[in-house]
Amino acid sequence: MLKTTAEYHDGVSSNVRQVEIVFNDDASIYLNGAGVSRLHLLEDIGISPRLGNIPRVLTLPDNASCHVADNDIVDAYLKMHHQGSASSLIHLLESRIVYVIAALLFTVVFSWGMVEHGVPYFAKKIAFNLPTDVDRALGQGTLETLDKIVFTESTASAEIRQRLLHRFDLMKQQIEDADEYQLLFRHGNTIEANAFALPSGIIVVTDELVELSESDDEVIAILAHEVGHLVYRHSIRMAMQNSAVAILIATVTGDPFSTSSLVVALPTILVNASYSREFEAEADDYAYRYLLANNVPLEAFVNILERISETETESRVENFLSSHPATVDRLRRFK
Ligand SMILES: [Zn+2]
Repeated sequence: MLKTTAEYHDGVSSNVRQVEIVFNDDASIYLNGAGVSRLHLLEDIGISPRLGNIPRVLTLPDNASCHVADNDIVDAYLKMHHQGSASSLIHLLESRIVYVIAALLFTVVFSWGMVEHGVPYFAKKIAFNLPTDVDRALGQGTLETLDKIVFTESTASAEIRQRLLHRFDLMKQQIEDADEYQLLFRHGNTIEANAFALPSGIIVVTDELVELSESDDEVIAILAHEVGHLVYRHSIRMAMQNSAVAILIATVTGDPFSTSSLVVALPTILVNASYSREFEAEADDYAYRYLLANNVPLEAFVNILERISETETESRVENFLSSHPATVDRLRRFK
């Protein structure tokens, strides 16, 4: 039998009464004093888990309760009746700094794992299952933004455009689900000789790129690379990876502002970020296979990329040569 004092709350009035609480060996609890005399079975009483030295709350069947400051007696009694494990685990977790550090480490490792593996995995899953409407809205939205901030109408001759559109159609015929793919011409201005793929199958080629090319094959080689980005859904995956990382950071740091602003910033992310080397390599592979299968000389890709690199400035939308040290490696197999 264990005995201590408790504060009794009748659950109706705000009165607090000091009572004696007796923990009987037969798993019953007896409250006595200040006009209170109650006997209850342990199994009918709710007992709050131990949180440091905060008094335990014992809730009686009629919602009356008593607060017991002596946690050790409550724990000893629960242990005697084999009910201690759950509440003492919480106490253990909360009282041991080592568990706090372990939890922190877990958060860090988990976040790192999410960024390194989880985010790209889910971004890929989502990108390939994105409703067509969403895909289309993202592509159109991005194009509209670019039309406002950089592009002007194309000045390329109708004849060149017709030729390239015809070859792009032939390319489309070799791709599954390419009905939505479209080739658009724009004057690039500050972004100069360039081409890039937007969600929903929009490929934009700048007049400057067309002018820089010495044959249609060279433009086709670039388009094949861009189609590679479309087929693997790189633009949407990149946008989601970038925003997911930021959302994750916002979640961990508890700064929701960066989360909501990111949704708004999606087109900007698409425009400003360059693809990872992994994505570029995938698109190169695609171009390589296409050129081989269609008897387009591989030099076409090498020549146009080398010419772009000679005229390159910092302000590209898709920086073809953003990973400079890799450029030589990239082109090696095309040579
Ligand atoms: Zn690319």
